Amino acid sequence: MYNINRRKFLGLFGCSCCSIILPSCSTVPITDRKQLSIVSEARVNRQAAAAYESFRNKSKLITSGAQLKEIREIGKKMEIAVSAFFDKSGQEDPTKNFTWDYVLVNNDKMINAWCMPGGKIAVYTGLLKITKNIDALSIVMGHEIAHAVARHSLERMSHAMTINLSTTIADIFLGGAINRTRNTVGQNTGMDIFQLGIMNPFGRKQESEADYLGLIFSSLSGYNIKESVKLWERMAAKKKGKETPVFLSTHPSSQKRIENLSNWINEVIIKYPPIKV
Ligand SMILES: [Zn+2]
Repeated sequence: MYNINRRKFLGLFGCSCCSIILPSCSTVPITDRKQLSIVSEARVNRQAAAAYESFRNKSKLITSGAQLKEIREIGKKMEIAVSAFFDKSGQEDPTKNFTWDYVLVNNDKMINAWCMPGGKIAVYTGLLKITKNIDALSIVMGHEIAHAVARHSLERMSHAMTINLSTTIADIFLGGAINRTRNTVGQNTGMDIFQLGIMNPFGRKQESEADYLGLIFSSLSGYNIKESVKLWERMAAKKKGKETPVFLSTHPSSQKRIENLSNWINEVIIKYPPIKV
């Protein structure tokens, strides 16, 4: 009993997602990274659709005009390019169960965009002040769409479930020490040590993966992905002086991000040219 539980505990913390003990695992399209997947996609998509619906109802949206048209045009191109890419390469289209939708949120202070599981996308007007052109906007949208294509939310939820499970197992052996430490540190710093130690590095890996896949989706859709470096430089300038240290942030620092993108751009342009549909 002890040995089995101990192996389970180490396996979970060691992040060997696809061990014999945890049977449910999937592979991220294109990068082929193995990811833990014990949450149902259909369920998450349903929950996301409901959350999106209520977001739509409660938010100040811009429902017409050139900016929204631009977002929808980029989105449509990307939807078609992503599906065509997977069809042509004989792989299952990871977006086959998506119901795409786009909203433009009227909030100039929010420099943000997101894509919920199942392809529900929001762009905030504050972001458009930094993207400035369709190529840069396609980079951000590609990044957000990549999080959904790579099922990063499902992966995070799956990990959250195993972390709760493994801390419980650990507590059995350590007589509750972990929970005591966790509470003490939490009280002292206002942070959750398990989140800092486990969730964040894992989040950064997903962020870099979304940067990489996003470049590919943007290139397949016919946009100039060299704009990505300029975009993140503009973003960095905007945040100057108050940039969150990489240690505490789930996002790579702007510099690391620009460095990665610069290394990927030429390869992506050659390997993933605009797809003809
Ligand atoms: Zn991201």
